[in-house]
Amino acid sequence: MASGAPIYLDAHSTTPVDPRVLEAMLPYFTEKFGNAASKTHAFGWTAESAVERSRETVAAIIGARSPKEIVFTSGATESDNLAVKGVVESVGPGAHVVTTAIEHHAVLDPCRHLEALGVGLTVVPVEANGIVDPARVAEAITDRTVLVSVMLANNEIGTIQPVGEIGRITRERGVLLHTDAAQAIGRVPIDVDAMGIDLLSISAHKIYGPKGVGALYVRSQKPRVRVAAQMDGGGHERGMRSGTLNVPAIVGLARACDVMRSEGDAETGRIRALRDRLWERFRRELDGVELNGDLERRLAGNLNVSFTGVSSDTLIGAVREIAVSSGSACTSASLEPSYVLRAVGASDARARSSVRFGVSRFTTEAEIDRAASLVVAAVRELRGLAID
Ligand SMILES: *Cc1c(COP(=O)(O)O)cnc(C)c1O
Repeated sequence: MASGAPIYLDAHSTTPVDPRVLEAMLPYFTEKFGNAASKTHAFGWTAESAVERSRETVAAIIGARSPKEIVFTSGATESDNLAVKGVVESVGPGAHVVTTAIEHHAVLDPCRHLEALGVGLTVVPVEANGIVDPARVAEAITDRTVLVSVMLANNEIGTIQPVGEIGRITRERGVLLHTDAAQAIGRVPIDVDAMGIDLLSISAHKIYGPKGVGALYVRSQKPRVRVAAQMDGGGHERGMRSGTLNVPAIVGLARACDVMRSEGDAETGRIRALRDRLWERFRRELDGVELNGDLERRLAGNLNVSFTGVSSDTLIGAVREIAVSSGSACTSASLEPSYVLRAVGASDARARSSVRFGVSRFTTEAEIDRAASLVVAAVRELRGLAID
């Protein structure tokens, strides 16, 4: 097969900036460079009004009642840390937190950090399809529980969690609910009121925005959520996150949300068709392919497959033209099999032979076809079954 431009199928790690997003950002680097906290002149006012418009846009995409409930951060890692540590610290000693075994490190590690400081922690397992049973979350809640953190969509296997159902439980029990929606925003319907969500993390670079910017939704009414700042300083973002706002990035995050809001649904259909096309090729042309995670309740662009008998690292090395990942990019430096796949009960062998494909807004049908052919040929060859 002729080689060509590399094919990007790693959309869960990051996505390219949409040209419309870049265009919206550019003036805020140069002529509209003001500090949004400068109250005394037009440069500051221009920046501030761009930030406030952006806040409205981000609030709208998740159904937040007030733009004041949006706190801009450096990304979902910071939002997750602020949510988990911020809520627990605001409550004081004796707190207990519930989370799941397949959360992103940005949630799991702050939880472990708090546990080391004496905070109670229950990590709820997920079922074999990669979905958490809300009844198990309910069982884990104690009198001391202050926060439940369950991601909306998983970054490795793409499974969509029943956050709305969990929200009914946390409401009933008077416990706060945080959800990491970095992968879900714009791809899964979100309504913080209807779903009973009190805190929600997003990141721009997973939705065709720039890296290094995100937001945390913090409910201000029914109940009013208190979050202890993790960054002390000038008291920006209603005291929850000090530091001069990254105005161009914030404008980019909002534009990325805007595009998702207007085109997300149509785009999801197209992306799902491409994902299904890839999966069909693997199923038709190869034996020993196993889908990891639920078939239906998953992100449209996610395909996580184990190719029996083929190590994912070897396979990825054999198809260098395709950008894919084994497990999570965040842990790809380690030789341990993915903890997410282990949590869904996959054997070591199955976990070590898994590859994550992520279809994006810019993926073409031709790229899917070429990627399928390259992977099928490589798997056959590595299994020593290559013919003619
Ligand atoms: C990418 C990702 C994060 C981290 O987001 P950053 O903005 O890169 O810090 C957190 N959670 C999930 C589910 C993610 O996919």
